[in-house]
Amino acid sequence: MAREKIFKGIAVSKGIAQGTVFIYATRKVEVFQTPILSIYLKDETERFDRAIGKTEQDLLNIQQRINQEIGGNFAAFLDAQIMMLKDKELVQLVKDTIIQEKKNAEFIYHKVVSDYAAKLGESQDQYFQERVADIWDVATRVLRNLLGLTHSSIVDVSSGSIVVAHDISPSEAALINPKTVLGIATEGGGRTSHTAITARALEIPAVLGIEGLMEKIENGETVILDGDRGMLIKNPSSGRVHSYKIAIKKDRELEKALSPYCEMPSRTKDDRHIDVSANIEFFSEYIHARKYGAEGIGLFRTEFMYLTRRGNPTEDEQFRVYNALAQRMKPYPVIIRTYDLGGDKIFSEYREANPFLGWRAIRVSLDEQEFFKIQLRAILRASVNKNIKIMYPMISTFEEIKRTHLIFDKTKKELKAKKIPYDEDIQVGIMVETPSAALLGPHLAQQVDFFSIGSNDLTQYTLAVDRGNEKISQLFDHFHPAVLQLIHSIIDTGHGAHIWVGLCGELAADPLAIPLLIGLGVDELSMNPASIPRAKMVIRTITIPECEKIAQEALCFRTALEVKKYLRRAIHQNFPGIEKVIK
Ligand code: PEP
Ligand code: MG
Repeated sequence: MAREKIFKGIAVSKGIAQGTVFIYATRKVEVFQTPILSIYLKDETERFDRAIGKTEQDLLNIQQRINQEIGGNFAAFLDAQIMMLKDKELVQLVKDTIIQEKKNAEFIYHKVVSDYAAKLGESQDQYFQERVADIWDVATRVLRNLLGLTHSSIVDVSSGSIVVAHDISPSEAALINPKTVLGIATEGGGRTSHTAITARALEIPAVLGIEGLMEKIENGETVILDGDRGMLIKNPSSGRVHSYKIAIKKDRELEKALSPYCEMPSRTKDDRHIDVSANIEFFSEYIHARKYGAEGIGLFRTEFMYLTRRGNPTEDEQFRVYNALAQRMKPYPVIIRTYDLGGDKIFSEYREANPFLGWRAIRVSLDEQEFFKIQLRAILRASVNKNIKIMYPMISTFEEIKRTHLIFDKTKKELKAKKIPYDEDIQVGIMVETPSAALLGPHLAQQVDFFSIGSNDLTQYTLAVDRGNEKISQLFDHFHPAVLQLIHSIIDTGHGAHIWVGLCGELAADPLAIPLLIGLGVDELSMNPASIPRAKMVIRTITIPECEKIAQEALCFRTALEVKKYLRRAIHQNFPGIEKVIK
């Protein structure tokens, strides 16, 4: 019996799956060099043009299929690929070089693309490095068309597979069928890569960034993929299989037991309504939001629109997404957060020693006002639907909100002058996710219509613990008393100023935290869509006076561990039934 081996990586999409390894290696295209006689050079450039045309048609066909199967603008990145494919300069350079060097199209094209990709790959920037995958994705298609080869495709994966790859190209990632692919494990990729985003949208587990995986694993091997803990277990021992089987069975039973809650209102036992809404990164995820019973979108992370394509989405492209989202979520509200670029979602050539403390979120928007105004115009135009709210990320000073208002007002005036309609009563809020914003709460609350607590960043900045750093992850704890004190104060300050206060970090989905947060008075909880039924179940089991008592007590402890121990005990005593959904 082969020995069990555990590989650790980055958990980017939740869930557990046991399956058979399917090694997905995009078949490398062999390119040979052939001299071309001068009289045939024109034919050769025309052959190249035809391959570009055929590739464009292939990409359009894939896009159409994705649009039919998944909907929305999930396939928008293929527009970017088509743009790369038809890049005038690149196409002309290839044709000129064919003529100058008198060599075959595939050889020249491969050479030109290699040079281009190498330049991008040299960049220290994760965004540009990830775009290299896009370029090779397109180029391989062109080369295969030039050579008259068929494409290897992830569509052919047999059912029950865990796909293991060095990396999965964006267009292949979009073709993954969740009925056959149980999970994904790759060597490359990060939290913002296409593969991560696709896995979350398809709701299959994924663990990325496992170093050297391809050399240590073979086709057909049995593995367990744990998307909750970021582990791939090869040749799992019978004990391990057994315990995961129980965990998977429990997860399924729980999911089934919780599914009726999708349809139920999120009211406490004593009839207080708590808004439960969804966090999404893509337009197409509104389908999950509705399926799981979200009463709105509490956080649309718009920076993903930027990260999944080459360059900034235009005002019209953004407008179409915001408008469609507003319409499909009616009558519920949609909170559009302006770009939270920077931090781990690095996007510029400019590298920083401490990106989370650097040029991030509203700081970028305020420095790049024209870029920011494009987004504001698109949001305002879509606000005619009357259910859009706007939210600014990572406010840390009073001046920031004042400056943001000035730009927003100016943008509104410009639209008015052009007679472009928008919602005059659009609500404007901020994410409270820095300790300084929490402490400045009374002043900031005078400036906005709502607060949404970003507990992920609030924890990171309060505890001085990088939220993405594996080494210190044991220090990252939302239940740290300092974090809870700040949450308490933000909610009180908001209510004192008569504005509503939501919470949209991971904490909102934690059943151990929900009674505490409601006891502290939170008005809205926004979470990943799949967690909604469980949150509703918790809400429907609790009563406000008990939650208030629990919250008061919970604020008195000295450590996160003491808080959690107390919460488990209090929940067990006051709200039997909830324990079974606490992990
Ligand atoms: C947060 O910081 O809690 C939050 C919701 O925003 P993000 O995770 O996108 O930084
Ligand atoms: Mg944040």
